[in-house]
Amino acid sequence: MHKHNIFTKLCLIGCFILNSAMVKAVELSFELSGKIEQGGFVLGKINAGNVVKLDDKKLTVSASGDFVFGFSRDDDKTHTLTITDTKGKTFTKTLTPKTRQYKIQRVEGIAKKIMKPNPKAVARAKKDSSQVKAARAKFSDNNAFSQGFIAPIQGIITGVYGSQRYYNGVPKSPHYGLDYAGKTGDPVKAPAKGTVVLYVADMFYSGGTMIIDHGHGITSSFLHLSDAYVNVGDTVNQGDVVAAVGSSGRATGPHLDWRINWYQMRLDPMLVLKTKPIK
Ligand SMILES: [Zn+2]
Repeated sequence: MHKHNIFTKLCLIGCFILNSAMVKAVELSFELSGKIEQGGFVLGKINAGNVVKLDDKKLTVSASGDFVFGFSRDDDKTHTLTITDTKGKTFTKTLTPKTRQYKIQRVEGIAKKIMKPNPKAVARAKKDSSQVKAARAKFSDNNAFSQGFIAPIQGIITGVYGSQRYYNGVPKSPHYGLDYAGKTGDPVKAPAKGTVVLYVADMFYSGGTMIIDHGHGITSSFLHLSDAYVNVGDTVNQGDVVAAVGSSGRATGPHLDWRINWYQMRLDPMLVLKTKPIK
């Protein structure tokens, strides 16, 4: 019991040990790192060969025992993580993401023409969106996500995850990126190792758009770029300069919008930066 308490204390920030599993079965070593919070990014480590499920979804466990999952912006459910060891024994842990308060901005008296974009723009945006969704849907068997993330640019943060505007009382889709102020041409670094899976120079809303795949459904998106220095299919290492800041697409000025996705789910890049890798 004493040992158990020490473990809990040591891991208060950013990680915790599945206590019941530690107590019941010595052979099952299991660890999570990250915030159990809306928009949270959670890394897990377990002996390879064990099966991990989040609710009904089986999570891929890499050869080195790494797995990953996250919680959406508005997740208000309690989830069950189920681990089945090599002997068929099952352990469960319930996870309830902490709710957050997001920045809400209400704007009244917007002219009708701004509320209704032209049909050509709508068609282009639809095409862009399906291309982006397809890139985020891919599974790749690499565990680059488990190494931890660095900020892609050093700059003042001007926009945060989860914020939302209401125009004339109508909610617009929330902002999922972390916006960094920058100058056109400033270098953008790969926040973690990965493979470039998409680059389109001129998407309607997001302009120069790049997606890097970090494995198991975790991708980074960069929006409003002015240039790309890598090609689709290239492998990049953490810290490699991959692109340049810009104001392409519908941007009010040069800045970098960086997003992190777990498949189609949006995670908070700030929480991703804070999640420590498990050694
Ligand atoms: Zn943004």
